[in-house]
Amino acid sequence: MARAHAARLTGFETTIFAERSKLAVATGSVNLGQGFPDEDGPSDVIERAAQAMHEGRNQYAPGRGTPELVAAVRAHQRAHYGIDLAPEQVVATTGATEAVAAAILGLVEPGDEVLTLEPYYDSYAAMVAMAGGVRRGVPLRGPSYRPDPAELAAAITPRTRLLLLNSPHNPTGTVLTRTELEQIAALALEHDLTVVTDEVYEHLTFTGAEHVPISTLPGMAERTLTISSIGKSFSLTGWKVGWATGPAALVAAVESAKNWLTYTSGAPLQPAAAYALDERVAWTGTLAAELEAKRDLLVGGLRSLGLDANDPQGTYFVMSDVADLGWPDAVAFADALVERAGVVVIPCPVFYGEEHRAGEGRHKVRWAFCKRRPVLEEALERLAGTDLSA
Ligand SMILES: *Cc1c(COP(=O)(O)O)cnc(C)c1O
Repeated sequence: MARAHAARLTGFETTIFAERSKLAVATGSVNLGQGFPDEDGPSDVIERAAQAMHEGRNQYAPGRGTPELVAAVRAHQRAHYGIDLAPEQVVATTGATEAVAAAILGLVEPGDEVLTLEPYYDSYAAMVAMAGGVRRGVPLRGPSYRPDPAELAAAITPRTRLLLLNSPHNPTGTVLTRTELEQIAALALEHDLTVVTDEVYEHLTFTGAEHVPISTLPGMAERTLTISSIGKSFSLTGWKVGWATGPAALVAAVESAKNWLTYTSGAPLQPAAAYALDERVAWTGTLAAELEAKRDLLVGGLRSLGLDANDPQGTYFVMSDVADLGWPDAVAFADALVERAGVVVIPCPVFYGEEHRAGEGRHKVRWAFCKRRPVLEEALERLAGTDLSA
C-alpha cells in the first residue's frame, strides 16, 4: 500500500516533537526540543491521583468532567481573574489538545476561515485541516514577536469564523499585553468573531508580564472560549487533563465534538487535577520563578555564543534566528547541531503556514528551557565547543 493517509492529513503525518525527541534518544543528544519538563510536578498531587485510583475512581467520568474538577476550574477562574462561571460553562477534556480539537471540530464549517497567530502551536493547523477549514496566519515577527493590529484587521474576511489565540505564546514566549488584547478584542467585536484562546501557560509568566485572559475584556466573555490544562502549570504534561470554559453554547459545541472523540477523560486524574487547582497553585509561582532563572541562563548563554535569542516573557521557550550565522534553513541548522554538538532543537518552519514557511519561518529554531540546570549547562557547553557557522 503506497499511502494510507487521507489527503487532509498531507503534511501532518507526524509531529516535529515526536521526530526530534526520537532523534535525541537515538543520538544521545541533549534534548532542548520537545517542551516537557524533566522533573515531575508536586508529589502530593501525584499521590492524590494514586489515591483516586485506589478509591475506585476508575470507571467513566461524566462527559463534562468530575464534579470536583468542574468546581475547581470555576473557583480558579474566579480567584485569579474574577470570572464567574456556571457549572454548564465548563467542560473537562483530554488535555488542552482535545479542547482545541473539539472547539475547531465543533465550531468550524468546511470553508470557514480560522485566524491564528503565526508561528502557531502545530496542532492548530492540523485540526483546522481535519475540520475542512482554512487557516490564515497573522504574523508575529521577530525579534519582538508582537502582533500588528493592522495585519490582523487585513486578514479578516467575510468567511472568518474563529480567531484562535494563544497567550502566553508557544513558541515565541510572547505574552500579549492588555493593550494588544484590547486591539484584538475591538476587531473581534467589530467583525462578530468567536475567539478561542489557548492559555495553557497562564501561570508561567516572568517579571514584568501579566497574563490577561481576553475573556475579561468588555464584551468578550460572551464570545470567548478559554482553554487551559494541568500539564504545563504543574509539570504533568503526560496527564492530559484540560478544560474549556466560556458561554454555555460554545462549551456545548465543544462537548458535542468531544463526545465522539474520547467521550470522557481520565477519571482518576480529574480529582487530582482539582486538588492541584484548589490547593497547589502557589507551586506554579515557584515553577515560574525557576523558569525565569533558566530563561536567563539559556538566553544569556546563547547570546554569549553569538546566537540570536528573543526575550520570552512567559512559557518555557526561546526563539533564535539562525540566518545571521549563515543558515537560511532552520532544518539544516538543527540537523547540523545534532551532528556537531549533540543538541536537539526544534526547527520552526512547521509552525508557519505555506505563505511564511519560505520566508520569516524558514530560519528560526525553538529551544526549550524547562530542563534541569545541569542539562541546560551541558547543552551550552556542547554548543561552546562547536563551530556553529554554516
Ligand atoms: C503543550 C501545549 C498544548 C497541549 O496541552 P495538553 O494539555 O498537553 O494537551 C496546547 N497548546 C499549547 C500552546 C501548548 O504548548
